[in-house]
Amino acid sequence: MFFLKRLRRTRLSRQEFPPPWRAIVERNVPFYHLLPQRDREELLRHTRILLAEKHFEGCGGIAVTDEIRVTVAALASILLLHRQTDYYPFLSSIVIYPDEYVGERRRWDETGVVTEGEELRVGESWEQGTVVLSWRDVLLDAETPDDGFNVVFHEFAHQLDHEARITGDDGFLPAAPPASPWREIWEREFERLRADDEAGRRTFLDPYGAESPAEFFAVAVEAFFEMPAGLREHHPELYGMLREFFRQDPAAWGRGG
Ligand SMILES: [Zn+2]
Repeated sequence: MFFLKRLRRTRLSRQEFPPPWRAIVERNVPFYHLLPQRDREELLRHTRILLAEKHFEGCGGIAVTDEIRVTVAALASILLLHRQTDYYPFLSSIVIYPDEYVGERRRWDETGVVTEGEELRVGESWEQGTVVLSWRDVLLDAETPDDGFNVVFHEFAHQLDHEARITGDDGFLPAAPPASPWREIWEREFERLRADDEAGRRTFLDPYGAESPAEFFAVAVEAFFEMPAGLREHHPELYGMLREFFRQDPAAWGRGG
C-alpha cells in the first residue's frame, strides 16, 4: 500500500502543474511570491498531491471550484515544504463554507457539566479527519500575509500537531523532535502567554493561544509564517524551535518585516 501511494505521488509530482491552477496560486497566495524559486516548485508539487488525495466538500450553498481547492491546498502546502511529509495523513476531507458559519459549542467544566451553544466560526480541525474553513476568511487572511492570522495555517497546524504529537490532553508531549529542550520551551512560552493574558498585558502572540497547548501551537505557527521577524525578536527560542521543526526560515524570505 505504502509503495503504491509513493509511486502515485511520484508520478503526480512529475506532471506539469496546470497553468490555470498556477495562475490561481499566483493570484491568491502572496506567500508564493516570497518563496525562492526551488521552494515554489516544491510547493506546486505538494499542492498537486494534496488535491489528488483530499476530498473537498461545499456547505452552506457554496460550490467547490478549482479556485477554492487550489488556494487552500497551496496554503496548506507551505507547512509541508522541506520536511519529510505524509501529506496530513489523518485528514481526508476539507469542508468549505462561504463565510463564517455557526458551529456547535460544547464545553465541560471541572464538575463535568456540559455547556452547549452556538458560535460563529471561521474554521475548525477535527482529529477524525476533517478541516472546516470559511472561504471568505481563507481569502481575506491570504491577502494579508503579515498580520499573524491565517485560518488555513491555523487549522492545518492542528493537523500537524495531531500527526507529530506535539500536544496532548495533558500539555506538550516530550517525544516530539527535535528532542532536547523542546518541551521546556513550549511550556515556558505557553505559560508566559497565559500569564500575560491574565494580567491584561499586550502580547505579540494572539492571546487565543492561551486557551490550550494545542491552540498555542496553532497560533505560534501562524505567527511563524506571517510575522517571522517579530516572532524571532520577541520569542527567539520559539522561533528557533519552529525553524527546526519546519526546516524553513521565513524571516529570511525578505519581506522586510
Ligand atoms: Zn485552533
